[in-house]
Amino acid sequence: MSALLPLLQARIAAEGPMTVAEYMTWCLLHPQHGYYTTRDPLGAKGDFTTAPEISQMFGELLGLALAQSWLDQGRPARFVLAELGPGRGTLMADALRAMRGVPGLLDAAELHLVEASPALRAEQAARLGDHAPVWHDSLADLPEAPLFLIANEFFDALPVRQFLRDGNGWRERVVGWHEGALSFGLTDIAPQAALEHRLAGTQQGDLVETCAPAEALTQEIGRRIAAHGGAALLVDYGSWGSLGDTLQAVRAHQKAGPLDTPGDADLTAHVDFRALAAAAAPAQVSGLTAQGVFLERLGITERARALAAELTGAALDTHIRAHRRLTHPAEMGSLFKVLGLYGPGTATPPGLDA
Ligand code: SAH
Repeated sequence: MSALLPLLQARIAAEGPMTVAEYMTWCLLHPQHGYYTTRDPLGAKGDFTTAPEISQMFGELLGLALAQSWLDQGRPARFVLAELGPGRGTLMADALRAMRGVPGLLDAAELHLVEASPALRAEQAARLGDHAPVWHDSLADLPEAPLFLIANEFFDALPVRQFLRDGNGWRERVVGWHEGALSFGLTDIAPQAALEHRLAGTQQGDLVETCAPAEALTQEIGRRIAAHGGAALLVDYGSWGSLGDTLQAVRAHQKAGPLDTPGDADLTAHVDFRALAAAAAPAQVSGLTAQGVFLERLGITERARALAAELTGAALDTHIRAHRRLTHPAEMGSLFKVLGLYGPGTATPPGLDA
C-alpha cells in the first residue's frame, strides 16, 4: 500500500479536502514518501522515459541550439548554463559534449541545476561532476548573469489547480476522502478573479487548469533574460491554452488513476504554453514549435545518418526507432512542443518559429 495514503487521509480529516495542486505536491515531493524524493523514475526499468533517455541526439541538438544563441548574442564572457529538473543529467551531459566544439563556450559557462530530488541530484553528480555543477532548490537562487536555460519535461510536473465552469463562476476540483478512499469533489461556486479571461471561450461544465508556479518561473526566466541576455528552451507536452482535465498518472509505462497509488506513480498535467508565453515579458517569445519540426530544422536527420554509419544489427534498429520516436507526429513529434525565450533585440534561437 502507498505509504503516503494514511498521511493524506489524516491531513484531509484534520483540514478538509485539498486542492489538486496540493495533492500533486504531496505525491511528487513529500520529503519522505514523494515520488521524486524517493527514486529515479526514468528509463526502461522505471515508470517512464524521456527524449534525452531515448537518444543522445536530443541533448546534442538542444545544446547546439543554445550555443548558437550564445554566439548570436556576442559570446558573453561569463554566463549561467542552467537546467530545470535535469533528471539523470543525460540531456546536459549530451549538450556539454556537443558544446565542446564551440571555442570559448565552456570556459564562459557556469553550470547550475535546479533539482528537488536528492536521488536524482546524486545521478546528476555522477554524470556532470566534471563540470562542477551547483545545485539549487529554486531558480531564484541562481546568480544574476546572462542565462542560457533548458527545461525538458519539467513544467508538466508542476502542480495545477482545476476549475469547473458553473454559470459565471467556478467550482474547484479537490481531493477528499469518501468511503475509505481518496475521491474527487467540488467546492461551492465562487468567482475567480484569475479566471475572468477564461469566461470567453468556455462554457458550462468546461474544466480549465492553472499552474501559478509555472507562470512565476517563466516570469523569472523572462526577467533575467531581458535584464542580462540569454535564451531558454522550454520543451514539454501540452498545447496553446488549457481546456479539459489533463491530470495523469503513469506507473511502469502504463497509465494509472491519479488517486490510485499516491507517491508511487508519476503525476503530470499538460503545459499551457499560452500562459507561459504571457508570463515571459519583457523577454521575447518564439512561436510554439512542434518538437519534430524543431529537431528536423536543427539537422537531426543528418546527425542520425552520421551515427547510423557506425551501427549495425539491433543497435541500428534501436537508433532508427529513436529518431522516429523523437520526431514522428504519431509519436513525440507533435504532442511535444518547444517555446523559446530570448533577449529583446536578439535573434530567435535556431529551429524555432519566430
Ligand atoms: N529533464 C529530465 C527529467 C524529467 S522528470 C529528462 O528529460 O529526462 C522531472 C524532473 O524535474 C526530475 O528531475 C524531478 O526531480 C524534477 N522536479 C520535479 N518537480 C520539481 C520541483 N518543483 N523543483 C525542482 N525539480 C523538480
